[in-house]
Amino acid sequence: MNTLSKSSSVFAEAKLYIPGGVNSPVRSFRSVGGNPPFITRGEGSKLYDLDGNNYIDYVLSYGPLLLGHAHPVVTEAVQEAAAKGTSFGAPTGAEVALAKLVCELVPSMDMVRMVNSGTEATMSAIRLARAYTGRDCIVKFIGCYHGHSDALLVHAGSGATTFGVPDSPGVTKGTAETTLSVPFNDLPALENVFAEKGKEIAAVIMEPTPGNMGLVLPKDGYLQAIRKLTKKYGSLLIIDEVMSGFRSAQGGSQSLYHIEPDITCLGKVIGGGLPVAAYGGKREIMNWVSPVGPMYQAGTLSGNPLAMAAGIAALTYMKENDVCATLTKRNAELTDALKAAADAAGVPVQVPRLGSMFTVFFSEKEVTNYEDATACNLDAFRIYFHSMLEQGVYLPPSQFETNFISLAHSDEDFAKTAAAAKVAFTKVAE
Ligand code: PLP
Repeated sequence: MNTLSKSSSVFAEAKLYIPGGVNSPVRSFRSVGGNPPFITRGEGSKLYDLDGNNYIDYVLSYGPLLLGHAHPVVTEAVQEAAAKGTSFGAPTGAEVALAKLVCELVPSMDMVRMVNSGTEATMSAIRLARAYTGRDCIVKFIGCYHGHSDALLVHAGSGATTFGVPDSPGVTKGTAETTLSVPFNDLPALENVFAEKGKEIAAVIMEPTPGNMGLVLPKDGYLQAIRKLTKKYGSLLIIDEVMSGFRSAQGGSQSLYHIEPDITCLGKVIGGGLPVAAYGGKREIMNWVSPVGPMYQAGTLSGNPLAMAAGIAALTYMKENDVCATLTKRNAELTDALKAAADAAGVPVQVPRLGSMFTVFFSEKEVTNYEDATACNLDAFRIYFHSMLEQGVYLPPSQFETNFISLAHSDEDFAKTAAAAKVAFTKVAE
């Protein structure tokens, strides 16, 4: 069994200086209990911690590391860029190169603006949609996460078309009032909102294949129906592919489901593990962005040369080596093995997968929305999670997160993971 004594003592110290000891809440292991390992390095598919343990990593920094940790093409690109200066506050050719590459990979994007986080991308996309349409309301889906900007930290009030309610103290009622929330995969609920408030709705923002309540897939025709509805009412469709971009498929979930959004948000993989995100879309809409248009948005470190170098290296390698197609096949092998292990132990699970993403839901029935996800057996998840961690498999510490695989994950990693899962599911069944 792994010991975490050094990690635990640094965690105790961390809590004195950083709220909860972490710089992003899920890292604290709150929902599964116990102390998180403190990481000293990552290489390929593995993480190494302060106590000398190593783990097969299915978190991958919550998605960005499509090629695995410290992939040489990314590391070398960053080192080379760093030697030439870390930030200029002036335009560079690397920004143009990454913008061109992104527009080529995601054809609905004619133009793109780089920012530093997914939160900034979705926040800016909403401001742009409001500016362009001259409308105030936005619609989001319950259980989808788009970062922590005020307008998006809102949950549904009672009744499908009532105003939203702040999800966090500090978000004003006024802000929440223009965010309407509906359940995912429920077209009538969305139609009702549009019937009542359609002329006030600037945009619908959605994860097309949500990954922030665990991985949930859209019902047949659902995304296309949303596209039709937004067009009918003159509202924009913002597709948030911060997680699904270059993960569900090379062109994102919009390419898989054949929907053309007005604005796309990207993040995670686009930066190869450095802080980059982006929003972009149709030229006519992007021309509203400052300095060409009146919608203001800016950033001291936006388009940072190290981050651009990492993004260009990661996306170029992905494209030239057909990484997404390879990972889609590899993911099927792993998830089939996990499902078989659960079945053998008599533990009911659902294992949806898409591209290089998957979730093991402890549920007897298919998970189609947030309500289904929150009905999962969280005690079973906790037992599974800790057993896997003890056996050297690092999973996201919440039932409501998505697991990721990378190009660095080997057959041996998968075999070890499946063997560990057999033990973990047996514990769950006890
Ligand atoms: N949108 C989606 C779909 C995400 O999954 C996330 C983060 O997990 C965000 C936006 C926010 O991105 P960031 O954490 O970079 O602010």
